[in-house]
Amino acid sequence: MSTPSHDQPCAATTCHRGLRPHELDAGQLLCNPCIHLITVWLRTELPLQITVLEGSRHRETTGASAGGRSVYRTAPLPGRDDVLNLLGPASWADSICDPYGQAHTDQHGPLPIAGVLTSWVRLISEERRWNPPATLAPQALADWLTVPRVLDHVSHRPWAGPLRDELHQMMRTIRAVTRLRPQRRPIPQPCPRCDSLTLVETDHQLYIDCTTCESMYTREELALAARITAAALDAGAA
Ligand SMILES: [Zn+2]
Ligand SMILES: [Zn+2]
Repeated sequence: MSTPSHDQPCAATTCHRGLRPHELDAGQLLCNPCIHLITVWLRTELPLQITVLEGSRHRETTGASAGGRSVYRTAPLPGRDDVLNLLGPASWADSICDPYGQAHTDQHGPLPIAGVLTSWVRLISEERRWNPPATLAPQALADWLTVPRVLDHVSHRPWAGPLRDELHQMMRTIRAVTRLRPQRRPIPQPCPRCDSLTLVETDHQLYIDCTTCESMYTREELALAARITAAALDAGAA
């Protein structure tokens, strides 16, 4: 009803948004909400998640308890091996990226954050002959990937969808280990696409998303959809 017809969907399989005219005109394959999400994940959420992971690793490796007395052991954290895996080092030489294959599925446990990010940094830096970050530390890689000109390049490449999907999966894996998830609040308005009352707003994100059909909306789009619904109801009542 309110949504314009979209012939070309966003390239990410985890996004169900059609590309808007301004995105198509710019030659993008990835929608602006997805580009924004990548920035939120890597710039805002990842530093917090890494802090939690580092804290878990420290407790695990030192076994330290408050005051140095081992009166009782802290309850073991879920997935200790997963914490170590996620914080594992990356190697530039091993980071050959296969954007279309699940090359990493035979790995035991989650891939290191640095490993996931290094693959994409290497692919992009070699394509554009841009200098990679000076270190392969996760946050240095994340910051490099979210520089606007890098994301602009990403949004035009045929592997833009796989990149977005892999980062999405990485964030889900991290959240499952830390049990730290961005706070979400319901929005009392039906989803313009699927009509479910499952729209939520999430910390740090510009976009409202539907947990049923995974569509994403700006506040302006939702306001427009609400006005159109109201107008249709008025017309029906007249
Ligand atoms: Zn998208
Ligand atoms: Zn929906």
